[in-house]
Amino acid sequence: MSKHVSRPGRLTALGRSIRHAGAQRVWPLLRSRPYVAILAVVLALVFCASSVIGLRVALGLRDRPPGIPAATATGVPATMIALPTIPTIPPAAAPPTAAPTPIPTVTGVVFDSSGAYAFPVAGDPATYRWAHYHWDGTNAADIEARFGLTRAQFEAATRAPLVAITSGTALHHSGNIGGLGYVVQGDDGIDYYYGHMSELWVPDGTRVEAGQPLGRIGNTGATARFIEPHLHLSVGPRDTLWDQPASINAAEQLQTLFGLAWQARPTPTVPFAQPAGAPVTHPDARIVTTFERAQAGALAEPAVEIGLAPGAAETLDVVSTLDGVVNVSRWTEAYGTRIQITNETADSTVVISGVQEWLVEDGDVVTHGQVVGRWNPAQQPTLHYMIYQNGVLIDPTPTLGLPIAE
Ligand SMILES: [Zn+2]
Repeated sequence: MSKHVSRPGRLTALGRSIRHAGAQRVWPLLRSRPYVAILAVVLALVFCASSVIGLRVALGLRDRPPGIPAATATGVPATMIALPTIPTIPPAAAPPTAAPTPIPTVTGVVFDSSGAYAFPVAGDPATYRWAHYHWDGTNAADIEARFGLTRAQFEAATRAPLVAITSGTALHHSGNIGGLGYVVQGDDGIDYYYGHMSELWVPDGTRVEAGQPLGRIGNTGATARFIEPHLHLSVGPRDTLWDQPASINAAEQLQTLFGLAWQARPTPTVPFAQPAGAPVTHPDARIVTTFERAQAGALAEPAVEIGLAPGAAETLDVVSTLDGVVNVSRWTEAYGTRIQITNETADSTVVISGVQEWLVEDGDVVTHGQVVGRWNPAQQPTLHYMIYQNGVLIDPTPTLGLPIAE
């Protein structure tokens, strides 16, 4: 959903034009002047290394396992570098998961008319939403709780059991990016990847039938742990799941099988603006964890923390520090509700976590200073605040204008 990462199409086109130029002019030059060739190689290595570092940071903001094996050690999606394919790295050993015995009884599974296919999340599909394309433009679907649910409904939806979409073999597919997951190799010749699960209920290699419980929806994996639980689903002909572009669009597949429509993702444009000021205007607001300390590991996520003097416990308005488009992750476990505001023109994103109430929804356009949520320091003593500029996490302190607590 965040828009701070370039879409793969542009890079593919760039790669094509670079290859074209290489064939025409660069290669003959390099052959005649070997020093130029050596310099070019060194520059290319430096460029690749710095790109990889930048991309790894950017990946922390929003989940990104669609086009890569969940266990790729670099964490860099193949689609984002228009260069040779990253070699396949064997999946990391699956983290231990407590499979309940017996497996819970799962009800409310929705089947297609033939009975050969089951909607992968147990319960009413109308509780969920997904877009035609994954947030980065790829063909995966993030199936997540729709807006307008009560907190109890939201909690049920984000703990729902996942079931095999069709009959086949369930293979564990877990790693640091996609978290716990399965690839269901369907008898229909199609592979279905389930990412970010919280529990795996069947052993690797289990023969499953359509609708058979596999585990639970979750937010495991480095890229999902700070956002709300959802199912990352990607679909592809046997053994092509990690090819990009994927040849099967997951949302279209869900529509074909179950007649369920995706939700269009709003794409408003907002004029160039950059973050300024603090998300709370209280005179006692202070930086209580600096960016330096957060970077050094004081926090799970490298945000600065904003707090008040002890005892100041009134509920405060939280305001946007940027003109942009909103993306909300609701009631997350790690830092409460997370409000992300992106100005795509400036490639700038602010992330405010720790609010108890949000007053905006996904796709809303907000302006600087607009109230977007409320924060109760008695419930959550600090607000977490981050700025991504050009996809890279930067120190927000100079923009905040807040004193640093002793
Ligand atoms: Zn996803």
